[in-house]
Amino acid sequence: MTTGNINVSVENIFPLIKKFLYSDHEIFLRELISNATDATLKLKHLTNIGEAPGVEYGNPIIEVKIDKEGKKLHIIDQGVGMTAEEVQKYINEVAFSGAEEFLEKYKDSAKDSGIIGHFGLGFYSAFMVADKVEIITKSFKEEPAAHWTCDGSPKYSLEEADKKEHGTEIILHINKDSEEFLEEGRINELLTKYNKFMPIPIKFGTREETKKVGEGDDAKEEKFTVDNIVNNPDPAWTKQPADLKEEDYKNFYRELYPMQFEEPLFHIHLNVDYPFNLTGILYFPKLSNDLTMQKDKIQLYQNQVFVTDNVEGIVPEFLTMLKGVIDSPDIPLNVSRSYLQADGNVKKISSYITRKVADKLKSLFNENREDFEKKWNDIKIVIEYGMLSEEKFFDKADKFALYPTVDNNYFTFEELQEKIKDNQTDKDNKLVILYASDKDAQHTYINEAKERGYEVLLLDSPIVSHLLQKLETSKENISFVRVDSDSIDNLIKKDEEKISKLSDEEKDTLKGVLEEVVPKEKFTVQLESLDSKASPFTITQPEFMRRMKEMSATGGGMFGMGNMPEMYNLVVNTNHDLVNNILTTKTKAKQERLIKQSLDLARLSQGLLKGEELTNFVKRSYDMIK
Ligand code: ADP
Ligand code: MG
Repeated sequence: MTTGNINVSVENIFPLIKKFLYSDHEIFLRELISNATDATLKLKHLTNIGEAPGVEYGNPIIEVKIDKEGKKLHIIDQGVGMTAEEVQKYINEVAFSGAEEFLEKYKDSAKDSGIIGHFGLGFYSAFMVADKVEIITKSFKEEPAAHWTCDGSPKYSLEEADKKEHGTEIILHINKDSEEFLEEGRINELLTKYNKFMPIPIKFGTREETKKVGEGDDAKEEKFTVDNIVNNPDPAWTKQPADLKEEDYKNFYRELYPMQFEEPLFHIHLNVDYPFNLTGILYFPKLSNDLTMQKDKIQLYQNQVFVTDNVEGIVPEFLTMLKGVIDSPDIPLNVSRSYLQADGNVKKISSYITRKVADKLKSLFNENREDFEKKWNDIKIVIEYGMLSEEKFFDKADKFALYPTVDNNYFTFEELQEKIKDNQTDKDNKLVILYASDKDAQHTYINEAKERGYEVLLLDSPIVSHLLQKLETSKENISFVRVDSDSIDNLIKKDEEKISKLSDEEKDTLKGVLEEVVPKEKFTVQLESLDSKASPFTITQPEFMRRMKEMSATGGGMFGMGNMPEMYNLVVNTNHDLVNNILTTKTKAKQERLIKQSLDLARLSQGLLKGEELTNFVKRSYDMIK
C-alpha cells in the first residue's frame, strides 16, 4: 500500500481561480474597493484604540481612476497599507485572509467595525480582468513602501518603493477582453450598483459646481471643481430608528429607487444583533396586479456592500414583493441557493423578517384602523399570500386581516363571525359566508342576498380561492359561498318547509319542456320552489366547481379541473307566475319563445350572453314589443 499527498500546486489553482471563482467578472471592482474600505476601517479602528501612534485618521477617501491610454485602472486608498512582509503574507498566500486575522486579533473591540473581507480570495479576482497587477503600498508603520508586481503567472516581484503616505494603490493592467472596464460609463455603473452605500467616500473623477460668491451687486456665480463622490457612506438603514423621521425613510426610498415615482405605503426598520446580525429597511410598495413584475426588488448587502437583488431563500417568498434593503454579514452567499435554504442562520433570518412584518402590520392595525383600512387594498395581496404560505404568519395575520363588504365595511374575521352568526348559520349549524368577486357583474345576486339581510363580502384578489380553501380548513364549521353559486334559498339552507305550487307530475312535464329548448351541454335544469317573487330563471355555478377551476388557473387545486368545460345550473323557480305560464302555454312555438327569452335574460344578468346569441336576443326583444 502507498499513501501520499495529492500535489496541489499554485500553477494549477491560479487559472481555476481566474475562471471559476466568480462567474461575474465585474465583481473585481467590488472586491478591490472592499479591500480598500477594510484597510481604511482597520486604520480607523487602530487609531481609535491607540495602536497607531503618530497617525491621524483624518477624512480618508478611496479613489478610482481610469488611465485610458495606459489601459490601466487604479484603486487608491489611504488605509493601513502593508509592509513588504505583510504583502508576502497576505497577498502571496492565496486564501489567507488578513481581514479574518484582524477580526480574530481584535475580537472584542472590532466586531462592529464593519470589516468586509473573509475568505482571502477577493484580491485575486483582479486577474480576471487584468494581465498584470501592481500593488504599491506603504504601511502606517515606520517602514519603507513596497512594490509588488505579478503578471498572472504565479511568479511575482517585490521591491522597495518611494511612496510617502500610508495607504495602497492597486494598478490593474486591463486585458484585451476586458477593455469595457476602461470606460467611464461602465465603471460608473459598477460603482452605483455595488458601492453606492459603502462606508468610506469613493471619488471617481471630479465635477463642476457653481456657487454664489460676494455680496449684493458684486455677487457672482463661480465655478468650482469638486471631487465626484459616488456613494452615500451613511445610508438610512445603518442609523437608529429613533434618529430617523418619516421624511428620511421616504428620501431613502427615492435614493434606492430613483426611477420609482410612487411613494411607499409604509416601512419596517429591521435591526437585530442577536442571534444573528441584521439591519435593513423594508418598504410596502403599491402593488400592481402583475405580481411577477414586483420580484427582486429587495437588495441584499453585506456590510454596506451590495451583493445581490435575488433574495430568494433568504426572505420568505411572500415578502419578495416588498422593496428595500437587508444588510447582514451572517448570510453565507458563497454557497448554492439550495444549501442556503438549509442554513440555520438563514432560516432564523427568514422567520425574524416574517415576525417583524407581522408585528408592524399588527401595530398599524391597532394604532390607526381607519388608515389601515384605506391601505388594505394595496397590501392585501402580500398578507393573503403570506397567510397561505406561512403558518406562523397566518396565526398573526388572522387578527388583522380584513374582509371588506360590498358596502365598504371592513371586518376582521372575528368581527364578521359575530356580525353574521345569527342570520347566516344554516340548518346544519354551519356559518355561511357570502362573497362576490365583482360588484357589477354579480349585482343581481348581491341584491337578492342583501334583501335577506345577508352581508356580502367583496373578495377580488387573484389568490382568493386558495385563501378561502385555507380558511375553511383552519376554522371550524364555516364555508364560503359566492353569491352566484346557487339560488338564494339554497345559499344558506334553513329548515323552512318549501311549498310548491306545482304537483310532482307538473314538475316532470315542465322539466321535459325546458330540456327540449335549453342546451344540455351547458346547463343543468334544476327546479326549485322558491319565493314567488324571486327570479323565475337564475343561472348559477356551483362553488366547488368554480373554485377548483380558479385554483388550478392560479396554481394548485385539483389536477385537471382547469380543463373542465364551464357548466352552469339553470335554477327555475316553480312558484313564479312566468314559469306557470310556460307550463300552461298551448302552442309549442310560444312556449319555446318564452323559455328562450327567459334563459337569455338569466344569462344576461350573469354576463354570459354574448356574440350571436346576444344579437338574436336583441332582435327577438324588439319583435316582442313592437
Ligand atoms: P480578504 O479581503 O477576504 O481578507 P483578499 O484576497 O481580498 O481577502 O485580500 C487578502 C488580504 O490582503 C487582505 O485581508 C488584506 O490583509 C490584504 N489587502 C488587500 N488589499 C489591501 C489594501 N488595499 N490595503 C491593505 N491591505 C490589503
Ligand atoms: Mg477582500
